[in-house]
Amino acid sequence: MPDYMFLLESRLSPEQRAAMLRVQELASVLGFNVYLTGGTVRDLITGANLRDLDFTVEGNPSKMARELEKGGAKVLSEDEKFRNVELLFAGDVEGSISAARDEHYVRPGTRPELRWSTIMEDLRRRDFSLNAIAISLNPASRGLLLDPTNGLSDIEHGEVRALSIHSFTNQPVRLLRALRLAARMGFKLESRTQEWFNLAIERELQLTITPEDAGEEVRSLSREERPQLILKEWEESDLLERVHPILAKKHPGYDAINRLIKVRDDLYMAGFRPRLATPMLLAILSRLKDRELSHTLSKLGYRSAEIEAIEKFPEKALDIQKDLAGKKTKTPIEAYRYTEKIPMEYVAYLLAESSNSVALSKLKAFLHKWRPVRQALPIVATELEALGMPRGPKFDQIVQDVFAIQLNGRAKTPEERVKILRKLSGIKEPPKKKEKEKKPAKAEKHIETPAEKKAAAAEKHAVHERHKAGMKAAAAKHKSKK
Ligand code: ATP
Ligand code: MG
Repeated sequence: MPDYMFLLESRLSPEQRAAMLRVQELASVLGFNVYLTGGTVRDLITGANLRDLDFTVEGNPSKMARELEKGGAKVLSEDEKFRNVELLFAGDVEGSISAARDEHYVRPGTRPELRWSTIMEDLRRRDFSLNAIAISLNPASRGLLLDPTNGLSDIEHGEVRALSIHSFTNQPVRLLRALRLAARMGFKLESRTQEWFNLAIERELQLTITPEDAGEEVRSLSREERPQLILKEWEESDLLERVHPILAKKHPGYDAINRLIKVRDDLYMAGFRPRLATPMLLAILSRLKDRELSHTLSKLGYRSAEIEAIEKFPEKALDIQKDLAGKKTKTPIEAYRYTEKIPMEYVAYLLAESSNSVALSKLKAFLHKWRPVRQALPIVATELEALGMPRGPKFDQIVQDVFAIQLNGRAKTPEERVKILRKLSGIKEPPKKKEKEKKPAKAEKHIETPAEKKAAAAEKHAVHERHKAGMKAAAAKHKSKK
């Protein structure tokens, strides 16, 4: 058995690992079995980005949510009926905890009856085999892979396989999900699944997808890496019509999506991993007029506060653009300070959509010039320390001043920086052997007289004492501040 725990730990960010340990710990205190499930395990196995952590517990997760909240996690939503909690852990880690449940359909296509269950039953009621794999986080079996429907083999074959002949009848939204997963992963539908899919379309089951279910798919779509591939699949199978007729008629904003993806790739290169759900949704729906946009979103079950936030997004971006083009951000350091506070989704949106060259050049300078300089600032601090300056508020101020000077294109070389650092800190160059006086005596070696030797020693001692006194005074200042 491959060591899934090792794989997991090596793929999680430190923040994700901390969140996982906390959930594990809480489950153990409460006496619940806990598993990593769904998309997390699938993405782990396929090597895709682990963007969120889906946990399933054999028990009620609401108690865990309360404890996690005490530790600073944010509960984004809680569904008491399905016992499902969506969370934002410390460090911006997205995740969910759900109670293991079984679903029993009295008749295909009707609402299922719910029953709290074991993890195995929970995995079997899921939509596709590649989503029905779990990793145990329990002390006695940590790292054990649970794969009751052979999803691992389907992943190896690059296939999306539905778990029952009634899969699409029971939940027609799985038609959208099947294509979304296949397009996202570059997989195809397994042959029998394809037959069931075709049969469902023939029987027009897509007409029974509820707008709310379609809305959930649109939410997921806007978080996808390459939503254009999925939209094309939905369009080809005439499923986009079910998401919304206006969107089907006017078509998704493929150009806007591609622009945003290009920007996102640039941001990745610059070390940012922004969440772009809102700008991506706006790009997808960019061909809709304002009123069509709010109408579509409300039909898809978006709450009015969400719709308002989405509609206001471009206006807010425009305000930012104005600031970037205005007096407020005239000098590079002013522009830097302003830009570092802009949420990245606005930066991405403006880079993709703005045609204001002043604002754009500042955003680009921030990403590609100023931030690398900022990241190298510890070097300046080390240089200043080497000159003998004790750390403290004055020290920090000098480093910041050098940063501002560097943004203006100066202080690039170590030599230039040391000069500037000396000037700002008032630390004089140690009186070197007097080069100029020596020069005339180039031909014959100067022999120091005893008096000269004495004077040089005295000077050296004085410098040393001055330095010691300076350090003492700084240390005393530092102590009194504490
Ligand atoms: P993503 O990376 O988009 O979050 P995901 O697979 O985690 O992908 P979610 O919508 O978060 O997708 O769902 C979590 C899990 O719940 C899925 O992996 C799947 O096992 C199960 N699931 C979601 N929707 C359905 C459904 N309609 N029918 C059955 N199982 C579902
Ligand atoms: Mg998920």
